[in-house]
Amino acid sequence: MVVGRFAPSPSGKIHIGNIFCAMIGYLSSKSKGGKYIIRIEDLDINRCSKSKAQQVLNDLNWFGIKFDEVNLSMPKNEEIKSKLLKIDEKILNCIYQSERTKIYECFENYLSNKEMTYPCFCSRAELNTVLAPHESDKIQVYNGKCKNLTDEQIKQKKRSPSIRIAVSDENILFVDGCLGQYKENLKNECGDFIIRRSDGIYSYQLAVVVDDGLMSVNEIVRGNDLISSTARQIWLYKNLGFKVPNFYHIPLILDKNGKRLSKRDLDLDISNLKNSMSPSKLAGILAFCAGIIKKPYDVDLDSLISEFSWDKVHKKNLLLPALF
Ligand code: GLU
Repeated sequence: MVVGRFAPSPSGKIHIGNIFCAMIGYLSSKSKGGKYIIRIEDLDINRCSKSKAQQVLNDLNWFGIKFDEVNLSMPKNEEIKSKLLKIDEKILNCIYQSERTKIYECFENYLSNKEMTYPCFCSRAELNTVLAPHESDKIQVYNGKCKNLTDEQIKQKKRSPSIRIAVSDENILFVDGCLGQYKENLKNECGDFIIRRSDGIYSYQLAVVVDDGLMSVNEIVRGNDLISSTARQIWLYKNLGFKVPNFYHIPLILDKNGKRLSKRDLDLDISNLKNSMSPSKLAGILAFCAGIIKKPYDVDLDSLISEFSWDKVHKKNLLLPALF
């Protein structure tokens, strides 16, 4: 059974780019008789809130996406499994990442018992680790400065550290359903990366893998600007005893200047569009942009399920249609 997911970060309102991604993920899962679940990636508690998350859920509901219930699946690893089974079921089933800290802690402990992690005191490095890094957020390869600190040196530090995971010198190879073959050497192109910030907040990279693994997600459809995280995530899935999902990094909808849409493009946010457009009109426009139908026409989202095939979906970024 295919299980796909939509994983928005409610740091603002969602726009047509987000709905486009949710639509394709939903149609892909449903066209294979699968499930589609939602998870709220609100680790960045300063920018995300429950009310913004509710707005996101309302907008997705207006568009016609119906989410399925999450089915938990445990990792193969017995040590992690026994730790997880001690956690309250409410937390295990919660779709808000901000409430799943105990779960991430289990995985962090497991990795640190295996001596795969180390404390890092480099202060500026952790800034952008809680939100998913999009293409414009350049990856800086970590130079390993804190990797070999002695216990004595660690004791002398005055601040609390972030936690890094030491990657291995291996090429991660995968075939993306949209972008084709992809290869990354973690050591040379990424370096040891942060899994927990010094303030205790877990990083996007760890949380997304743990949650997709536990929530039985086996198909990840997301914007192609997130491809750079995939090698790290595949490596984590393997190290944490989860099966690696299939990935589809889909085209982005760009604004008229060729830039990725952002939460600042207010006219394109869904709560605004709702005032001037029906969900079926929007579904028709987006399905046409994606390549799923040949002309834009008003269509009920679920009627597109039988029309969907990955062969039809465009692979290159799309300019915002003049229709808006
Ligand atoms: N929460 C991420 C974002 O909104 C998406 C992460 C993912 O799909 O892996 O950018």
